[in-house]
Amino acid sequence: MNLLIMGPPGAGKGTQAEVLVKELGIVHISTGDMFRNAIKDGTEMGMKAKEYMDKGELVPDEVVIGMVKERIGFADCENGFLLDGFPRTVEQAQALDVSLEELNIKLDGVINIVVPEEKLMARLTGRRVCKGCGASYHVIFNPPKTEAVCNSCRGELYQRSDDNEESVGTRLRAYQDKTQPLIEYYKKKGYLVNVDGDQDIDLVLKSILEAFAK
Ligand code: ADP
Ligand code: AMP
Repeated sequence: MNLLIMGPPGAGKGTQAEVLVKELGIVHISTGDMFRNAIKDGTEMGMKAKEYMDKGELVPDEVVIGMVKERIGFADCENGFLLDGFPRTVEQAQALDVSLEELNIKLDGVINIVVPEEKLMARLTGRRVCKGCGASYHVIFNPPKTEAVCNSCRGELYQRSDDNEESVGTRLRAYQDKTQPLIEYYKKKGYLVNVDGDQDIDLVLKSILEAFAK
């Protein structure tokens, strides 16, 4: 199964993706995670992406598109993938259409997680991420069993450098200006499934699985 997961920053894409890929036996491809790994590895692309990410701006299309095009061609995508955080612009969506056609891959659906905008700032500024496995927690809404320690891999939790009020403000504007038009784009293609993201994490998962379970 080949899926996209969409929604504004803080909607819960990463949280849901972590469990969904295990349930569906597919790979999780998060462009944000790919950039953070590239930054950690000190690659040229990572350094370029960091300039934009720190400010909360989108990384230029040509950088992201090339990276995803290469990734979805890897052998581990043969059983399916969940793309998270990509596409974020109409240009990226059009490039993805071309790549999928070249690879003879069909999309099975686009999950759009819907959360009221006023809830997103608190979700993002309270987010904590595992250094080891990337799992997403929240200091109030989804705290780990032991403070600052990941439940699954015991890794240390940290706060992303772009999860501050200023960057979040820029990211939310970028979402509204550049990414929101994709809802209509995928609706027209008949792929869009809206899911209420303003409910308990396990209920969001249940709604998604009800829509996509084979
Ligand atoms: P995204 O990947 O869409 O940016 P995350 O999955 O990292 O978002 O979630 C953002 C923050 O909101 C995290 O701190 C996460 O623990 C929290 N969160 C995710 N889903 C919910 C939910 N249904 N209710 C409350 N908080 C949530
Ligand atoms: P995320 O982890 O999805 O919240 O993404 C973190 C940051 O990475 C974003 O604010 C952007 O700077 C960058 N980024 C991730 N995915 C994309 C994309 N598809 N297009 C442009 N920038 C991206």
